[in-house]
Amino acid sequence: MPKIEVDIKRCKGCELCIVACPEGVIALSKTFAPSGYYPAMMAKPEACTGCRQCAYVCPDVAIEVWK
Ligand code: SF4
Ligand code: SF4
Repeated sequence: MPKIEVDIKRCKGCELCIVACPEGVIALSKTFAPSGYYPAMMAKPEACTGCRQCAYVCPDVAIEVWK
């Protein structure tokens, strides 16, 4: 099953990946990361197709896609 991993040390919570994901997989966590941001997370993991759109748009290279 495809999945993403968000590096919460890099993520700045900019939400670009949330907008980019065609499947609505990603949301911001309700828990602060040590960096002080709310990081992106998989809210609907079962819907991920591994298309990598989220990783392409992330300006902080915080997303890794596994397929
Ligand atoms: S790989 Fe594609 S479907 Fe999966 S979270 Fe990223 S943009 Fe969404
Ligand atoms: S695009 Fe990158 S930095 Fe922005 S919220 Fe998503 S993972 Fe975090």
